[in-house]
Amino acid sequence: MQTLRTLKALQREGLLTEDPRLGPRLEEAAEAMSIALTPEMLALIDRSDANDPIARQFVPSASETEIAPDELSDPIGDEARSPVKGIVHRYPDRVLLKPLHVCPVYCRFCFRREKVGPGGEALSAAELEAALAYIRARPEIWEVILTGGDPLMLAPRRLASLLARVDAIAHVGVIRIHSRVPIADPSRVGDELVAALKPKRATLWFAVHCNHARELGPDQRAALARLADAGIPLMGQTVLLAGVNDEVATLEALMRALVSARVKPYYLHHPDLVRGTGHFRVSIERGQALMKALRARLSGLAQPTYVLDVPGGHGKVPIGPGYLGDDPDALLVEDAFGGHHRYAR
Ligand code: SF4
Repeated sequence: MQTLRTLKALQREGLLTEDPRLGPRLEEAAEAMSIALTPEMLALIDRSDANDPIARQFVPSASETEIAPDELSDPIGDEARSPVKGIVHRYPDRVLLKPLHVCPVYCRFCFRREKVGPGGEALSAAELEAALAYIRARPEIWEVILTGGDPLMLAPRRLASLLARVDAIAHVGVIRIHSRVPIADPSRVGDELVAALKPKRATLWFAVHCNHARELGPDQRAALARLADAGIPLMGQTVLLAGVNDEVATLEALMRALVSARVKPYYLHHPDLVRGTGHFRVSIERGQALMKALRARLSGLAQPTYVLDVPGGHGKVPIGPGYLGDDPDALLVEDAFGGHHRYAR
């Protein structure tokens, strides 16, 4: 079976569960952003559930045509922080390097939804050289984060060549890869690809995007095990999404599943102000309440940091919850179970 790429193909699989009268708006949503749902993700969907949390991430919704006034086409300000095509430079010591805009699946809530897609431009050889020259000329850049799109959509040989060129820049200490491939297209994580992920000098870290425990089926866990067995440190990135994972038991199950797969939960992203994604958004207060509930249920090993990407390109900040309250002559500390305790200043 091939990746599903059209509304018709989704319909054939029984995945279009919205009122058929919304058809024109669904078509509008599908035109605004590419569709891709791999057979491996399709196999994880419970088709008898009209609200399946995996289907919800990839099947277009008529709600995508509702654009709120505060939603942005570039919600995290990539453009404002892009000195050279393919580079985003927000913090002194690190850059994003985006070699391509193709992904194995297209997530309807994507913060780069207006950039990603099979027609999205990849960097030409000259543009890639200019991006690498930018990094080479700045000794303060210690970490290079390969993102996109999904860098694992590059053929292993091209990925190895790109990593070797970044690795040849002596001041780069860490190369980080952000990818959804181990979840969405786990068979792609074969020997050749794993071998490509071995820079000779710099340390490579791997961040995997996963939003629900059910995304970690046997094939996905095997792909992650191949990476972990190769000595690659793994961390997890999750987007907090209404109707997908905005319940404490769902998040708890996901964090436990990630840790069991040797993936350290890293970030829980508050959903960005992406155009047409209001139906995925939860309030920050709700996110903080969920994090508080997780603190009472999970060890530190399984706790992600809840972060907001400040709109306009100002970077990420942790957004709580807080555990310190005011008291005239001491700090008032709240424990994980809601008890309050005085602690001398
Ligand atoms: S895999 Fe990542 S970059 Fe690609 S559509 Fe999903 S969220 Fe966006």
